[in-house]
Amino acid sequence: MAVITVGELGEFGLIDHINGLVSAASPFEGVVLGIGDDTACWRPRLGLEVATTDSLVEGVHFLIGLAAPEELGWKALAVNLSDVAAMGGVPGYALVSLALPPHTPVEWVTGLYRGLLDIARTFGVGIVGGDVHSASQIVVTAALWGTINAPEPLARSGARAGDRIAVTGTLGASAGGLRLLKEGRPVYGPLREAHLRPRPQIESGQGLLRRGVKAAIDISDGLLADLGHLCQSSGVGASVVAEMVPVDPNLSEVFGSDALALALSGGEDYQLLFTAPSNIMEKVQAEVPFTDIGEVTERGNGVEVVDASGQPIALPQNGWQHFGPR
Ligand code: MG
Ligand code: MG
Ligand code: MG
Repeated sequence: MAVITVGELGEFGLIDHINGLVSAASPFEGVVLGIGDDTACWRPRLGLEVATTDSLVEGVHFLIGLAAPEELGWKALAVNLSDVAAMGGVPGYALVSLALPPHTPVEWVTGLYRGLLDIARTFGVGIVGGDVHSASQIVVTAALWGTINAPEPLARSGARAGDRIAVTGTLGASAGGLRLLKEGRPVYGPLREAHLRPRPQIESGQGLLRRGVKAAIDISDGLLADLGHLCQSSGVGASVVAEMVPVDPNLSEVFGSDALALALSGGEDYQLLFTAPSNIMEKVQAEVPFTDIGEVTERGNGVEVVDASGQPIALPQNGWQHFGPR
């Protein structure tokens, strides 16, 4: 069977195709107008509103051929959901914009939407619109709106000296998966899954907020880099005990002694990093599983990693940074 490309289908044909895929998914509560009008229209919910946007760019965030379109669709919304999780938000509506080379097979777009609709269903998101245009490389941009059922969101600026530092889940598996993919080596299933189908910590974020946590960030750039962002916003430092960092067990199996560096700096874990006084951490424990990894300190020493006896250890280079030196 001949492959039909996006260029052959044309802009309006492609929009019709996408509209068909999205409307085949069940209708979303509160939507007055979805895809097909000049804007989407929905009824607002109560609470604070949050909005975020993030793009996946071919050649920067993914390499075509190394990821299935379903995986990219999942990930495009997952990275936005992770930011909403970091605020303690409840996700709501999304817009998805696609830049596509004309030779892209329509079947690739269908696969992308399969992944998008899969994660949208999983986390209660309505895809209500977007845009398509032609470009020399693929860019998938999602924008996501949500609400916060509390007087204040989790914020990067909420950390205080003396707080404990904690993370949800395990770290480093995504970076390990990416390294194997790039090296063209066979990728151990759980590491591939961690990199291409990350699970945003939406429920955990809401749980942290309910239990009185004030400060959180999602780990996208890497534990140390994102802890640095949080410390900078709060005007504090941090001390992390290397032995306490929850290195992903699958990662340790494949990478041995390199696993700790990947867990500290690898990035794209999409777990939550948060700080709170010990008494709040005790309350969190009842609802959100986490690992204590260290303590917030007075400003001045930045983020340091220490061994079990408290001696500073040399840091691997910091996490992912666009436009910066590599
Ligand atoms: Mg971004
Ligand atoms: Mg973030
Ligand atoms: Mg982000």
